[in-house]
Amino acid sequence: MISRPSLAEWVGEAQLHMGTEVSVYVWHDDPATAEKAVAAVFAEVARIDNLMSTYIEDSKMSEINRDAAERPVEVGDELFTLILRSLDISVLTRGAFDITYDSVGQHYDFREGRRPDADTISEELPRLNYRFVEPNRGDGTIRFTHEGVRINLGGIAKGYAVERGVEVLRRYGVAHARVTAGGDSRLLGDRRGQPWMVGVQNPRDPDQVAVTIPLENEAISTSGDYERFFLEDGERYHHIIEPSTGKPAGEVRSTTIIGPDAVLTDALSTSVFVMGVDQGLRLIATLPDYEGIVIDADGQMFYSDGLQPPE
Ligand code: ADP
Ligand code: MG
Repeated sequence: MISRPSLAEWVGEAQLHMGTEVSVYVWHDDPATAEKAVAAVFAEVARIDNLMSTYIEDSKMSEINRDAAERPVEVGDELFTLILRSLDISVLTRGAFDITYDSVGQHYDFREGRRPDADTISEELPRLNYRFVEPNRGDGTIRFTHEGVRINLGGIAKGYAVERGVEVLRRYGVAHARVTAGGDSRLLGDRRGQPWMVGVQNPRDPDQVAVTIPLENEAISTSGDYERFFLEDGERYHHIIEPSTGKPAGEVRSTTIIGPDAVLTDALSTSVFVMGVDQGLRLIATLPDYEGIVIDADGQMFYSDGLQPPE
């Protein structure tokens, strides 16, 4: 048999989806298949966004927020399951992760530098409580127990999207890939003989990497106060909301979570951000497959027990 030279190569592409940059980088022996696989990932991400976005009027998510206080809304298996997981994570994090943050959260606009005033916060805060979301397993519906409740999957949907993206790639026979949506990445296999190197950004200097982590077959999510924010009178208003106050969480600058499932690393990075260094790392210590790095308000770095800080 004559052996032909391999045409295999890395194929990559980045597109804007879910309000952020989504990128897909894959290896496949057949570049044409690789390109089809990459396109299929973007189609999947767009499908998820059309289902879950609060910015899309005719998404299921928008229907829930419009109607679920009036009537139980049938949401379909996929969304039902992700909402259930979100509610479980609220219990796990004692309310630090709460998809009903959006009753207050909807009044922030980080691009326009707009935030809710004290009256708006006192009016909306009583509606922020994941216990007001009532899933009915029997008929797959979601109902809100109170008027004015709103949910938003912004703290978990990107992790879900990259996890699904990797599923799509597997179906195309891809064994080495990286799928990233904003701060959430899911790695498939290694980088052909070497680990993927994923950098955690210095929260106060976008050109500096605080630490680089070698990873294979894992997910990594970073939440930071530097992605979506504005400054007003020296105060930083960013997109991770402390559910007990309705204001941006103040204790840390960034959190990074590493583990097998991007859905959970995404939700946990947001949760640990709210919980802070001590509580947050204590939670991570209870989850055997998950590790975390927290950079606090002074720029100091803290590592969970399973990670060796660099020399
Ligand atoms: P990014 O969107 O940059 O990846 P995160 O994963 O930390 O960052 O998610 C932040 C998003 O999570 C916010 O933009 C908002 O949609 C949502 N969110 C904010 N606060 C909370 C909270 N306490 N619980 C759940 N979701 C939240
Ligand atoms: Mg997150």
